[in-house]
Amino acid sequence: MCKKWHKVMNTGQEKIVTRFAPSPTGFLHIGGARTALFNFLYAKKYGGKMLLRIEDTDRERSKKEYEDDIIEGLAWLGIEWAGKGGAPDEPYRQSERTEIYKTYLEKLIGGENAYVSQEERMGKRGTVIRFKNPNTRVTFHDEIRGDVSFDTTDLGDFVIAKDMETPLYHLAVVIDDFEMGVTHIIRGEDGISNTPRQILIQEAIGAPRPVYAHIPLILAPDRSKLSKRHGAVSVNEFRKEGYLPDAMVNFLALMGWSPQAVGLETDILSPSELGEAFSLAHVQKGGAIFNRDKLNALNRAYIKKMSLEAQVSTVRKWLPDKDPAIIEKITPLVVERINTFKDIETLEKNGEFAYFFSEPVYDDKKLNWKNTPSGETQNYLAHISGILSNIPDAQFAADHLKGAIWSYAEENGKGQVLWPFRYALSGRDTSPDPFTIAGIIGKQETLARISRASEQLGGILLI
Ligand code: GLU
Repeated sequence: MCKKWHKVMNTGQEKIVTRFAPSPTGFLHIGGARTALFNFLYAKKYGGKMLLRIEDTDRERSKKEYEDDIIEGLAWLGIEWAGKGGAPDEPYRQSERTEIYKTYLEKLIGGENAYVSQEERMGKRGTVIRFKNPNTRVTFHDEIRGDVSFDTTDLGDFVIAKDMETPLYHLAVVIDDFEMGVTHIIRGEDGISNTPRQILIQEAIGAPRPVYAHIPLILAPDRSKLSKRHGAVSVNEFRKEGYLPDAMVNFLALMGWSPQAVGLETDILSPSELGEAFSLAHVQKGGAIFNRDKLNALNRAYIKKMSLEAQVSTVRKWLPDKDPAIIEKITPLVVERINTFKDIETLEKNGEFAYFFSEPVYDDKKLNWKNTPSGETQNYLAHISGILSNIPDAQFAADHLKGAIWSYAEENGKGQVLWPFRYALSGRDTSPDPFTIAGIIGKQETLARISRASEQLGGILLI
């Protein structure tokens, strides 16, 4: 068997080269994104690079739209890749490499490692190119699973190309990994059964064996295969739902790998911290469970890590018609209530913030705390109004207001005093406390709302 045909490109390769090799037959989903991330993190940790190779040999199912989606998704997540070179860089595409595969096919046939076979398929006679299987036992080391051994006899002389111009997956992958100097193949566990065939081809073309790491599949919480019926699965959908890319990357990294395994105490790691901490050796064997609550918790943590300025400008984008000055004030309250920025839409639709922007409309009877008579409630409101009117505008902030009213509320009953105060300002059964609302809407508006409430209770206008 001739082992030295290759026009070697991977001589003296020392740097780590990984690759993400998606087939552009669907949108970038979180399983693919996680594979890309692990390849990226591993290469980054060792100062190497991750190649992007679009495996579009299946011409019918491959679409440019999917390739674009994959590239956009990776860019959004901050997963960097290298391609053919040039600026802007382009990914490798198998559809552009037919000549290279052909050279190898010729050599494989010439070296009697492959042969053209006349066969009948679906009633039609035609040729295919089959690999001459040496029928050996293939044993390889997997960084995650340990030694894996397969008897390849059952595989028979498998097909590696439909014709000289149409190589099939196994052949193209092996040639590309070799030609591109790929040192580490990190891919989903479903790739494990492909490995023996690929090793046989590698041996036939004299390619060195790369390091293999097959990462666990992502499973739904019920341990079934993660699919559409479990909600969003494509990266773009998560993006549209308002998840932050760094939170997403953090979440993807935790599916199959754990910072605790390398002695870290926190789960919240920025992309650069992940780059340092990530290790293949600590990737788990068992399925990685997709946990939406965990993703939400991480996203909340990343929202909180944003500067107030960045939070304000993002909230403004989601409430484009609302007074920007009020948005600035309510942003800290808003971010407490959301998992993703898109949740703002629902909160808004449910009228959760309406009272910050306009006077609330409400049911008068609800102004009284439990069975408190209206007359009594009016007295409390009048008293509060009196205290508040003596507070200068500059001090009209939640803490100060609370300090000014708290003892009065304690003496007369917190429910009796604070409920109507709060309800007068918000008109809602649940809302932030009245001091916070008053601080945001300001002195004039606060006094006006209390006055109107008093009037609605049949009392006097207070201002
Ligand atoms: N193109 C293959 C896929 O999208 C992956 C190939 C590989 O990682 O070896 O499933």
